[in-house]
Order: sequence, then structure tokens, then C-alpha cells
Amino acid sequence: MLEVQNLVKSYPGKKNDPHGRVQAVKGISLTVGQGKMFTMLGPSGCGKTTTLRCIAGLETPDAGEISVAGQCLYSSTQGVRLRAYERGLGMVFQSYAIWPHLNVFRNVSFPLEVTPRRYRPGRKEIKERVERALDVVQLGHLADRQATDLSGGQQQRLALARALVMEPPMLLLDEPLSNLDARLRDAMRFELKRLQRDLGLTAIYVTHDQTEALAMSDSIAVMRDGVIEQIGRPREIYDRPASKFVADFIGISNFIDGVVVGRESSLYEVRTDHGSLFVPALVEPARGSRVSVAIRPEHITLEKGHMELTGANMWHGQVKTRAFLGEAVDHMVMVGGTEVRVRCNPKVSFEEGTEVTLTLDQAMCSITPAD
Ligand code: ADP
Ligand code: MG
Repeated sequence: MLEVQNLVKSYPGKKNDPHGRVQAVKGISLTVGQGKMFTMLGPSGCGKTTTLRCIAGLETPDAGEISVAGQCLYSSTQGVRLRAYERGLGMVFQSYAIWPHLNVFRNVSFPLEVTPRRYRPGRKEIKERVERALDVVQLGHLADRQATDLSGGQQQRLALARALVMEPPMLLLDEPLSNLDARLRDAMRFELKRLQRDLGLTAIYVTHDQTEALAMSDSIAVMRDGVIEQIGRPREIYDRPASKFVADFIGISNFIDGVVVGRESSLYEVRTDHGSLFVPALVEPARGSRVSVAIRPEHITLEKGHMELTGANMWHGQVKTRAFLGEAVDHMVMVGGTEVRVRCNPKVSFEEGTEVTLTLDQAMCSITPAD
């Protein structure tokens, strides 16, 4: 559906260097299938909005290729550059950009009314399309209300209706939920996902919120500093992070440094200060290379006492601190000089100083390059 190849975009000017340019996007490639929700996830300033605006036609890239449904929208090599309205992609901005002086109906009809005449539908069709879009987001009964009199969640849905009314082949959503309070954001996540799925929409979703990305996406591209670090399904990104950055950005992770010393069938042996770990790897690490083994706190179990170390990936430790989190208890456990975070079921809670045995779930360990 969407294909982006080697997209590059820089902006003029750089702090302390008037002649330098800000390299916002440094050669991004991605593919999004029909009816899929594709998320770009990354910290502020990593180039998410710039990528989205290049796809929408609101920015001109320096180089690259963009096509939707087989149609080329932009190509630096072929000299193609369709205008934003010719691309007809629906975009929802973080700020909603709702017009305060218009009512709900007019906010949605406006983008159709300002379409160049030869693309513009007739009055009757505009009315039908607006009504349909408002029904989809359950705002049909508020069509006459002034946009400013809507709640935050309703304004968000209005912005969505305004994008849907264009009947776009693809929706571009730039942090659409970030202005909502936590509870509403949680509810809208499900709502938006349901809509996207029910309507079979292809959507590019931009967020810096990892929970949102995991909950809503068919695939996630984790971005850092203008490049994509990893693309994968939510579970792959979470369970098999390809780098420390990805592991750290998506949730909490322990990193245990070591050296790859060998291989036993599908597992690699990583020698650490506290003994060997046996770990699966996505990409074959070179023998002798320094790596970090990433493991999530919930993939380590604790038992009381220093038990006999009967298998691989078992260590002795001592509880340093613990924190009750409601649905879990986090323990900071010292293993030699290394602090390991372990997330336990709330029924398991060991006080400071308790000697414990840790078992690191072998299947849930990942090898990432050391810094
Ligand atoms: P994100 O959406 O991931 O937060 P952006 O795409 O907005 O990131 O920005 C990427 C980089 O480009 C940042 O360093 C930002 O300061 C810079 N940038 C974005 N827009 C402009 C602009 N119009 N002019 C100059 N620099 C910009
Ligand atoms: Mg942004």
C-alpha cells in the first residue's frame, strides 16, 4: 500500500551553525500493507513528524521515493512531486487544528469545500459524506454544536472525522491522543484501533508512547535520530529488541554485559562476571564480541534462599530494595556488583537483605550489541 524508499529530509539552519543543516530524516525505508496500522515510535525530535509530512506532501524531501497503492507520489530520481491535495491522504495532527469559529458539521465539510473545483464533490454528496464521517466517530448528534464546546475526546474524534471525510486511501495520525488525559487516552486507543480495523483503514501512526504503539500496531518502526533502528511486530520489538536503545525505549530492561564465547545448538554462551548465560540471537554474534544481554524484569523469577544452581541462567543474589507497584512488586537484586531488576507477582515480596536465587528465562533473553 505505502512504500517509502531512502527518504531524506533536512532543514536549513542549525543551532550555533547558520550554514549547517538539520538532518531530520536520514534515509528511511518502510512498507505498509493494505489495512494495516503501522506505527513510527521514537523520542521527540527523531524525525517522525517530518516523515509523516513528507508522505502527506506537506514537506518536500531532499531525496527518496514515496508511493501509495502503486502510484508514485514523490520521486527524486524521476522528478515526480504530487501536491498534498492530489495525494488526498487524511491527516490528523497532534493539535487537532480544529476551527473554533465553525460548528462540528462545517469543521468536517471544510476540507471538501476548499478542494479545487475540479476535485470537489457536489453539495449533496458533501452533506452525505460529512454525515457518514460524523456517524462513524459517533458525533452525528452534535453536528450543530460549536467545535469549541466539545470535550477533548470529542474534539479528537472530530479531527478524525475531518480526515475520514476525504475518504483517503491512507490515514496519517501524528500523536493524535497526546493531548488527552490518561484515562481518555486509554479509552480512545481502543476506539481508534476498532475504527481502523472495522473500516479496513491503512494508517500510519506516530507516537512517542510505547504502550500506545504496542497496543495499537500491526508493526512498529522504532526511530532514533532520523533512522529506523528496528521494524517488527509489537511482540518482536518487545521480546527481541535488536539494540539497547530499542530495549530501553520500549519498557524497562536489564542489560548484562558479557562476551560471546561459544554456541550450543541454537543458543549462544555469553560469559559474564556472574557466570555464563545461554541466549538465543536474531543475528549471529561473532565469537569474542562484547555484547549486552537484555532481559525484561518480568522474565526473571525469584526464589527465597540460595538454592542449588541446577540449570543454566541461574544466579544467586541479595535483595537491595523492593517497590510495591499495585499489580506487581519490583525487586532490585544485587548479583555481585550488578543490579538486576526483577518484577514479581504481588504475592511475592522479599524484604531487603533476603538471599534469593534468580532464574533468567532463557527464551526471553536477547543479545544486543554492547555500547
Ligand atoms: P518528531 O516528530 O519525531 O518529534 P520532527 O520530525 O518534528 O521530530 O523533527 C526532527 C528534527 O527536525 C528535529 O531536530 C527538529 O528540530 C527538526 N525540525 C523539524 N521541523 C523543522 C523545521 N521546520 N525547521 C527546522 N528544523 C526542523
Ligand atoms: Mg512530532
